Amino acid sequence: MEIIRYPSRDSRNALLQRPLADKAREVTDTVTSIMDDVKRNGDEALMRYEMKFTGAQLDRLEVTPEEIDEAESLVSDELRDAIAMARENIAAFHRAQVMSQPVKVTTQPGVTCEQRAVPIDRVGLYIPGGNSPLFSTVLMLAVPARIAGCRDIILCTPAGKDGKVHPAILYAAKAAGVSRIYKTGGAQAIAAMTFGTESIPKVYKIFGPGNRYVMEAKQQATMHGVAIDMPAGPSEVLVIADDEANPEFVAADFLSQAEHGPDSQSILLTTSLRLTDRLPEVIERLLSTLPRRDMMNRSLEHSRIILLGDMDEVMEFSNDYAPEHLIINHRDARSLCNRVTNAGSVFIGPYSPESAGDYASGTNHTLPTSGYARSYSGVNIDSFTKKITFQELTPEGIKSIGHAVETMSENEDLMAHKLAVTLRLNSIENNAK
Ligand code: NAD
Repeated sequence: MEIIRYPSRDSRNALLQRPLADKAREVTDTVTSIMDDVKRNGDEALMRYEMKFTGAQLDRLEVTPEEIDEAESLVSDELRDAIAMARENIAAFHRAQVMSQPVKVTTQPGVTCEQRAVPIDRVGLYIPGGNSPLFSTVLMLAVPARIAGCRDIILCTPAGKDGKVHPAILYAAKAAGVSRIYKTGGAQAIAAMTFGTESIPKVYKIFGPGNRYVMEAKQQATMHGVAIDMPAGPSEVLVIADDEANPEFVAADFLSQAEHGPDSQSILLTTSLRLTDRLPEVIERLLSTLPRRDMMNRSLEHSRIILLGDMDEVMEFSNDYAPEHLIINHRDARSLCNRVTNAGSVFIGPYSPESAGDYASGTNHTLPTSGYARSYSGVNIDSFTKKITFQELTPEGIKSIGHAVETMSENEDLMAHKLAVTLRLNSIENNAK
């Protein structure tokens, strides 16, 4: 872990870089070849890649009803209760985002404009399964998809070496109303949902986080006519903390990010010399009590503690970095959060760890990474709908805007546009005679 004290302005750009940004070309080439292979060879390619990456030997990709029943019996009552609570909270927060009334405005006498949210018919959800079986992601994606009214919800996730999907993923998928589940992961799963294969249908929009291969594949999918929620790759947290912050809380937030995967990044921004000096030792101590130490150590290698001169610099740096998760563990947390302009999801105060939002507070954990929080929102109810606009003009309406439309179309040299209005205006005038 790097400790950087009072970095110069010139060195800031380097500090905003995400881990392994220099490997981007390699990942792009690998993903392009996987996408082409799946497009050409369909299910055969998917099974071949599952064998290569997970060791699973599959003879069918779709999960059967019997497998789902078996999985249900393997989930403990305690986990069922926890999933039920998380599902309720996620549903409550996302249901509240549904627009209760369509937008309807009369812009001129006789001219009515409407906007309605219409669900995307068929959506594809990607559930990571490499380092951890992220059944929480099933809830984060399928619950809002159902609330939004999506008809067909397809889910892809890698199987384990034994050819089975983790029971909690199957249980959560059933509880959240997923239509069909397929055993395929990584870029090949995204390719399958983009092009369609013998078993897996092509979808209209792909959702979900994943590693660098998944994120790159989603971005390539957009070149083949499929929409995506956002680029959501290796997870990251930026913590803003002061002298009053409990160093153990900060250290645990660092480590919980580090256990997502070796590409994850944790950053502390502080004006506290005391916290800067103490944190490495506290992280070391807590790390020694946890499993997955190897992976966490790899993630910590590109994590940073950055000591800055004042809170203006802290907020400027944080907004420039645009973190996926921003924890403000600071005595002025409430007022600082009003200065946040770029972040996926913000955790306010000492008792709001990222873990709460990762699982059960109700906010969505599928969030933009790698600086995309500058321009993208995390998954929300609108992600699952498209907005259709409607307009209706009465004779009074075409008369009130007709002349303006004629003038504008003539000035754009689009005379057929003008004609479409002129003919109607003439017809109204003739009928009135
Ligand atoms: P994953 O399911 O995303 O990826 C595993 C698959 O990647 C493998 O099955 C394989 O198909 C493919 N793969 C692995 N190595 C490859 C290689 N060398 N070449 C081609 N393909 C390869 O699971 P994961 O790896 O555990 O990653 C999950 C990621 O999701 C983590 O980076 C985590 O930080 C991130 N995440 C992000 C968010 C978010 O909202 N942004 C939320 C949760 C998790």
